[in-house]
Amino acid sequence: AEELLQQAEKLTVVGQLAAGIAHEIRNPLTAIKGFTQLLESSTENRYVRVILQELDSIENIVSDLLILAKPQVAQTEKTDLIYLLNRTVTLLNAQAIMKNIEILTDYEIEFLEIECEPDQLKQVFINVIKNALEAMENGGKIFIKLRFIREDRILIRIIDQGVGIPPDRLEKIGEPFYSTKEKGTGLGLMICQKIIQSHQGTMNVKSTLQKGTTVDITLPTLLSPEKDGDN
Ligand code: ADP
Ligand code: MG
Repeated sequence: AEELLQQAEKLTVVGQLAAGIAHEIRNPLTAIKGFTQLLESSTENRYVRVILQELDSIENIVSDLLILAKPQVAQTEKTDLIYLLNRTVTLLNAQAIMKNIEILTDYEIEFLEIECEPDQLKQVFINVIKNALEAMENGGKIFIKLRFIREDRILIRIIDQGVGIPPDRLEKIGEPFYSTKEKGTGLGLMICQKIIQSHQGTMNVKSTLQKGTTVDITLPTLLSPEKDGDN
């Protein structure tokens, strides 16, 4: 099963709207949470705990949505993609080890500078690798491969041996709020999609049930010349 994640126009509008709303929600949310914490310390009411838990989950959604509020044309810089991937793996390795998962990298090259927003790309890699980790409850391996598909385009392939995604669900991947996880927001892949798009890249998910999932991300190795201007 294979499904191209391409919802460019939709995402831009939805993203801006979502980010706007998220911003408006954040202030009252912070106030409510503060007062509820006060309430918790002054009473013995177990419902207050439930309220705080639910507030936490709203907070997670809001902070995910706010990532969408990042300016469309932010600062790009020349960054070593290999370094970026390695840093992400280091970050998630402890979590992997605890779940008996091995993250194996195969880059073919040692250094590859691309023009990008490093923090945003890191966000993408974290999201995708986290999804892989969360899909593998019985341990296994995650492979991260780098390959040139053209001189000016690099493929980053992330393969897991997790539960996979049923074909009918694969269509919904990248749509906001589709999540099979108790604490999931269902926003991760939509944000990844948006970030990759703003880098003139592509993202594509293939999956086989009970076998695993492969996420392919392609990125330009050089920024197109029209990006020279101020915006
Ligand atoms: P979240 O992780 O918060 O649920 P995502 O947008 O990252 O949101 O993913 C949406 C859903 O897609 C997940 O809940 C899961 O059902 C499915 N999914 C994404 N990546 C994988 C994967 N590697 N293996 C299996 N299912 C996945
Ligand atoms: Mg996720």
